[in-house]
Amino acid sequence: MTGLSNAAKRDIETVLHPYTNLDTFRSTGPLIIERGEGIHVFDSEGKEYIEGMAGLWCTSLGYSEAELIDAATEQMRQLPFGHVFGGRSHERAAELAEKLKAIAPHDASKVLFCGSGSEANDQQIKLLWYYNNAKGRPEKKKIISRLQGYHGVTIASGSLTGLPANHMDFDLPIERIFHTGSPHYYRQGEVGESEEEFSTRRAQELEELILREGPETIAGFIAEPIMGAGGVVMPPQGYFEKIQAVLDKYDIYFISDEVICGFARTGNMFGAETFGMKPDSISVAKALSSAYVPIGAVTIGEDMYQAMIDESKKIGTFGHGFTYTAHPVAAAVACKTLEIYEKRDILSHVRAVAPTFEKRVMGFADHPLVGNARAKGLIGAIELVADKGTKKSFDKAAAIGAVAMGAAQKHGLIVRALAGDIIAFCPPLIIKEDEIGEMFDRMARALDDVEAHVRKEGLR
Ligand code: PMP
Repeated sequence: MTGLSNAAKRDIETVLHPYTNLDTFRSTGPLIIERGEGIHVFDSEGKEYIEGMAGLWCTSLGYSEAELIDAATEQMRQLPFGHVFGGRSHERAAELAEKLKAIAPHDASKVLFCGSGSEANDQQIKLLWYYNNAKGRPEKKKIISRLQGYHGVTIASGSLTGLPANHMDFDLPIERIFHTGSPHYYRQGEVGESEEEFSTRRAQELEELILREGPETIAGFIAEPIMGAGGVVMPPQGYFEKIQAVLDKYDIYFISDEVICGFARTGNMFGAETFGMKPDSISVAKALSSAYVPIGAVTIGEDMYQAMIDESKKIGTFGHGFTYTAHPVAAAVACKTLEIYEKRDILSHVRAVAPTFEKRVMGFADHPLVGNARAKGLIGAIELVADKGTKKSFDKAAAIGAVAMGAAQKHGLIVRALAGDIIAFCPPLIIKEDEIGEMFDRMARALDDVEAHVRKEGLR
């Protein structure tokens, strides 16, 4: 721990860090972020960074939005806690539910709040199980998600997540959760196979899984419009259309996990709209409150609501809810966030700057390190490879993704390295055209440093 600041040492001795190599962390220590302003954050040494990941894909309105701070403060003064159990409520709950219903990409009847994206997806599973019991279909309980998908880390949502690190040593997934193939065409498309053909193959695999398990036992399918944490994977040509047809054929409830794609990220209010998905429900969190306070939610349709009422007639109480379900401070901040999206027309802003963002990300495809570049709206990624022709990856030990992330950091840009040496970009939605330019100029300098490192160390 030599060379580390006191703050870093204190952190190492007290904080258990998620998504961190706990061994190497003891010598590297944390980057301590102290404050934020617009799209920038500043570390404890005063160094400025462009927050190219909006934190964890979440601080959509940047780091110094006074209206959100005021909304929280006012709500804390008026009613710092209120709950919605057993017939109680407070006004912020319905206000936020109304706003969400008005923009949801499906016919939403009710909103069930929670504290995070993981909880939202956990609730999705519980609701679906409850619903099918209420409907007298106790066998219809299995849920299908996708390899490489990310849906959270609780026991159930972590089971939906299709990434090895989230299952290994945790004894996950739990039963009744199944994974079908990922839509990662660049990596998994076969030689000579078109995107459309690849999509057809993935839809066929989904159908085969359904038939193998028995269609009457499959309750739901969950997907992110663009896979986020699993690698910023875009749906290939025709993908959701073909998947949707399979789901419709077997009466399978479709959940769009909008935790990253929701609220204008992909150039429409929801990713489902960008990719022509027809979900029965959505999960939201993150940008719902611009991440200023923890809150998540799921929407349900009238059919599910009616079935739940019927169940209440039989068994009484709907036995679910968190102390913080529809927390008034979180709901007030989320209401203000949605109001800001509307009054500042964040959607039009995203659409206006997205072409620059997309062009800059795609421009990296010419770099010797970049095997694939992809972007939609204000989310994108580059995939670093040792050989562009064969798509050969770097040796895992070279940790090129981490090296690139470190190089970006040195140049004043925060990005995230995902499994497979994928560098993700997901800046606050308020980023301006010139700031996008600066962000990717910094990334370009970082990539040149990585290229020099690769050559020096003979890593190809
Ligand atoms: N779903 C998606 C698509 C996500 O990206 C995330 C978080 N990255 C989650 C669910 C889980 O959200 P949380 O971390 O708030 O539990």
